[in-house]
Amino acid sequence: MVLVELGRSLRASLNKLSTIGGASEEVIATVLNEISRALIEADVSVGLVKAMKEKIKAKIELTSDSHINKKKLVQKAVQDELVSMLQPATKPYLMSRKKTNVIMFVGLQGAGKTTTIAKFAGYYARKGWKVSMVCCDSFRAGAFDQLKQNATKLRVPFYGSYTEADPVVIAEKGVAQFRKEKYEIVLIDTSGRHRQEAGLFEEMQEISAAVDPDNTVFVMDGTQGQAVYDQAMGFHDAVDVGSVIVTKLDGHAKGGGALSAVAATASPIIFLGSGEKFDDFEPFNAKSFVAKLLG
Ligand code: GDP
Repeated sequence: MVLVELGRSLRASLNKLSTIGGASEEVIATVLNEISRALIEADVSVGLVKAMKEKIKAKIELTSDSHINKKKLVQKAVQDELVSMLQPATKPYLMSRKKTNVIMFVGLQGAGKTTTIAKFAGYYARKGWKVSMVCCDSFRAGAFDQLKQNATKLRVPFYGSYTEADPVVIAEKGVAQFRKEKYEIVLIDTSGRHRQEAGLFEEMQEISAAVDPDNTVFVMDGTQGQAVYDQAMGFHDAVDVGSVIVTKLDGHAKGGGALSAVAATASPIIFLGSGEKFDDFEPFNAKSFVAKLLG
């Protein structure tokens, strides 16, 4: 389950504060330290945690009314801070029924892009949208077959090529075809090699320039820890990332990397993936996510 351990640690720390108010400064300091430790252990980047702790401290100090219930005050400050970390100024992209929405997916190989595209396609197809997929991963053998299989299961049309080696050409042709056929959503799978090589970023930039996506989704593996911040930053600098999808939250994910990805890209999380099946996918809402976490 998503972030179970983090939730447990946060709740245990918060419970240390007296419910009848008047918790001493010392207790509050200990609790804030414990909360910070729990977040770092859950892979939230150290810099983010430090900044968050300072903001919470400032909020608590501002409220000098001694009658106010300190536990509630700290709990609310922690909750608000987590929500604001997960809810950047950029609002999620809203699909329009009046045009062809081109959505490009980027991320490291194995992050779960191809699987996520199938889940995403299924989600919108069930809601009655005309969805299609383009496979621009001409690097990984089998990538096109994987997308094709998923598309066939979902009964969603797809475009790809066994012979064309240039992903930019595939992207252009695929998008042009689905635009012409008035598809409402075109999902573009890109190749993600193991490392963030310059070649991968150049290729993504070329595809992006060729198809001019309405939104670029950074797919990240939720089991990845502190490395996510730099990784997300690299993708964001290369192509204008506008959304984040976190995958593999069913496994050993501590999940904190998700907060780093949001911070690095200033982009909202739009969905969470929690399994290999198409249905293991849910829209993300920061407020209810944090409320559940702090229980
Ligand atoms: P890509 O290289 O980024 O396109 O990644 P794939 O979509 O091929 O996924 C890599 C592996 O992760 C595959 O074995 C998927 O079945 C698996 N996978 C993707 N999303 C999830 C998820 O949410 N949970 C789990 N447990 N596995 C996932």
